[in-house]
Amino acid sequence: MNRRRFLSVVPAGLLAAAMGSDITPREAQAAAEQTPNAQPIPVTNDERIAELIAANHILADLGVLDGFGHVSVRSATNSKHYFMARSVASAAVAQADILEFDEDSKPVDARSHELYGERFIHGEIYRLRPDVQSVVHSHTAAVLPFGLTEVPLKALIHTAFFLGTEPAPVFDMRKAVGPENHMLVVDTTSGAALARILGDRSVVLMRGHGMAVAAPSIRDAVFRAIYTRENAEVEMEALKLGNPVFMSQFEVTRFDRATRQWNEWVAEAEARRSGR
Ligand SMILES: [Zn+2]
Repeated sequence: MNRRRFLSVVPAGLLAAAMGSDITPREAQAAAEQTPNAQPIPVTNDERIAELIAANHILADLGVLDGFGHVSVRSATNSKHYFMARSVASAAVAQADILEFDEDSKPVDARSHELYGERFIHGEIYRLRPDVQSVVHSHTAAVLPFGLTEVPLKALIHTAFFLGTEPAPVFDMRKAVGPENHMLVVDTTSGAALARILGDRSVVLMRGHGMAVAAPSIRDAVFRAIYTRENAEVEMEALKLGNPVFMSQFEVTRFDRATRQWNEWVAEAEARRSGR
């Protein structure tokens, strides 16, 4: 592969990491704008936290997050840190619930709050993937069969182009921790093992547990979490009828921006809350 081809296929963040430098928020924004599918990335923490609260509400309202799932965003001012809610149901997340975590997923100031035990999923993906600005972890039931069998989860519907043409990787806690595990990613060791299985992909399935979604923006993370579930649901139905026709390499690399959906999801989430 020549240098030009290499630069065109390697994500900007991974390239920066490979060159030994951290990517800044503005560089991430510039890189995202060069990526045809990318969503805008806020450059201030206030904007990122506002989107994080909206993301919690959208994913809860659409049933992607239940009382156990969570979403996070990387800090705009310290690329080793990230923001995530305290341990609270996503549907109810408010400004006062948002905490900052360091590179080892320790809270900068926990303010006596209880924390999500599985925050290490987020911290270790951010550590390994400088290009990732937002992570979602959910227990979406629709994806579980694909982490439990040999049937691969692959891009089948155009909105799930990011799944790509190769099977979504599967993280098995038994291989990371051994047979005596509790199925949960509650430390840096198991979080790092999960991040390694994710590699440079967008989605990693977690056997008997759920999935983790990585994205270059919070809007992309929400979009990917929602449409990974939809792809899994459609694939399961299609498998009952016959052999699904998966998307081709050409098809998964051609998809337009989806900002309109983000704006609609935010408006719907706000309307539901103002009506309560
Ligand atoms: Zn979990």
